[in-house]
Amino acid sequence: LMQLFRPLDMLGWVYRSIRQGLIDMEAMFDLTDTAAEVVDAPGAKPLQVSKGHVRFEDVAFGYEPERIILKGVTLDVPAGSSLAVVGPSGAGKSTLARLLYRFYDTTAGRITIDGQDIAKVQQSSLRAAIGIVPQDTVLFNDTIGYNIAYGREGAGQAEVEEAAKGAAIDGFIAALPQGYESTVGERGLKLSGGEKQRVAIARTLLKDPPILILDEATSALDSRTEEAIQATLDGAAQGRTTIIIAHRLSTIVGADQIVVLDAGKVAERGTHGELLAKGSLYAELWMRQAAERELEEVTER
Ligand code: ADP
Ligand code: MG
Repeated sequence: LMQLFRPLDMLGWVYRSIRQGLIDMEAMFDLTDTAAEVVDAPGAKPLQVSKGHVRFEDVAFGYEPERIILKGVTLDVPAGSSLAVVGPSGAGKSTLARLLYRFYDTTAGRITIDGQDIAKVQQSSLRAAIGIVPQDTVLFNDTIGYNIAYGREGAGQAEVEEAAKGAAIDGFIAALPQGYESTVGERGLKLSGGEKQRVAIARTLLKDPPILILDEATSALDSRTEEAIQATLDGAAQGRTTIIIAHRLSTIVGADQIVVLDAGKVAERGTHGELLAKGSLYAELWMRQAAERELEEVTER
């Protein structure tokens, strides 16, 4: 009898895996607003990341042809260095991140990693090389453990817990009745924006990619939690190519280069010191935020 059942079992398993795959894909698309038409070029080879040198070469892009969002952006992020992108909301900062992950193809110009045009390499290899903490995280309707472990296939429980610790979400998970087995999402536990953000950070820490994109990765956290995680993120950025999109300038003071993006164009670039000395857009933004910080400190006291 068992012999009869085994193939059926197998079939059930295959069916479940395919279904899970589809659900994950859907969640991914959902998560990212992916334009489904981005596909591998014929004969695409896997991306070979030797060091992780990222370049945007005169990149133009619009979600709709009649509305151009990025208007000729050139960025050079040497391997292992950090680039911070700041600027008003709607400037196109997240769009830069989406283009590097190739959710969309550029309209003009190109993006390269170690000299390879990302539009010409296998998409899966590109995405394996990049870890992204998006501005808004949508989690899979699965356990919280699965949502972290998704960062790296075959990760063990100890590694998952280590990553959770790095993202300061370990205590929260430990306090759940079912711990890492707790289901999150639609059919389970609802997580706050900050909790979801920390799950995304844990997932990315576990992924341990050569290229890291942090898109306002701590924006939903209170300042105390942000401080706790900032050290981990700074550590993670060490020695790897990192693009940090930041709202709070205080988190990017040490970046190797800072770019101010305004209405889809690079308005200013330099280090924190250089930009302050220039006394223009960045300096104004810095002054304003410094004043706000002081006000916050006064009211917290
Ligand atoms: P930022 O991250 O700097 O706040 P974004 O890169 O998210 O800005 O957005 C830049 C511009 O592109 C905004 O005007 C936004 O409305 C528009 N935009 C963002 N996503 C889409 C989309 N999926 N479809 C159409 N327009 C979009
Ligand atoms: Mg954004």
